[in-house]
Amino acid sequence: MITREGSMRALLAVIAGLAALAVLLLAACSSDDASSGAGTKSVVATTVQIAALTREVAREKLEVHGLIPPGADAHEFEPTASDLKAIEDAELILRHGIGLDDWLDDTLKAGGRAKVVTVTEGITPRQLDEGEEQVDDPHVWHDPANDKIMVDNIASALDNFDPAGKTTYDANAKAYKAKLDETRDTVQAIISEIPPENRKLVTNHDALSYFATAFGLQVVGAVIPSISTNAEPSAKDTADLLETINREHVKAIFAESSVNPRLATTLARDAGITIVDDLYGDSLGEPGSDAATVDGMLLANARKIADALK
Ligand SMILES: [Zn+2]
Repeated sequence: MITREGSMRALLAVIAGLAALAVLLLAACSSDDASSGAGTKSVVATTVQIAALTREVAREKLEVHGLIPPGADAHEFEPTASDLKAIEDAELILRHGIGLDDWLDDTLKAGGRAKVVTVTEGITPRQLDEGEEQVDDPHVWHDPANDKIMVDNIASALDNFDPAGKTTYDANAKAYKAKLDETRDTVQAIISEIPPENRKLVTNHDALSYFATAFGLQVVGAVIPSISTNAEPSAKDTADLLETINREHVKAIFAESSVNPRLATTLARDAGITIVDDLYGDSLGEPGSDAATVDGMLLANARKIADALK
């Protein structure tokens, strides 16, 4: 029997096939006139957040090619052959730094002519305890104040890359920073609906420290006690966290859209509390969704957190 879901899947496969064909045809057409200089200049962004912020600043003036796709685990990313080609061909690469896109270094060593700009320049990373050592927390985009610094860095990178567009980039950056200010106020209002004694976060990995600090929440633990997703918690780590959850009367565990929620789900079941498994920790929503932008992601997270902790 063909289920409704099955036929929908078949239809999607056909659409995907047609889209791929269209891309091939377009590529075949454009390769002929590539030397004419016609068309939009393009920039490469390593993370999905930087790609989204750059689209706000560039709008239709530049094509933005993001390497890490929405929904992917940024900590586990490995560039594909087509990513390597994009890096090699790029004139401008906007990168995150703070250990999140170290894979770019090897690729750059192999060649390429791109100017590389680290867009978190000027942000002082928070220090998180990871076992015995302190590490820089790369998840800076969860604080709108940091996003504004990134927008400024992106705007000045684009101004240098394409001086003819400077007026537009600067105006777009100013408008988006105003939107981030508005977003900060709305997020703060949403979080303030949570009773103060419930403002406690347990996340899948340590991704929400900047958000918690910016909006007055307390991170009481993480299922994977690491800023990265590739660490394995020990049985003792998990037992200690369960004890903390019970003692602090934590109401929910927040897993992320891009990380397997298996352990977090088990822990939530053992503690008898809610599991929210689609928070945007390291990723943004699919293109076209409400959370495809950085401001939309911040609002979506605030609502998910408030709904579960109220
Ligand atoms: Zn992360």
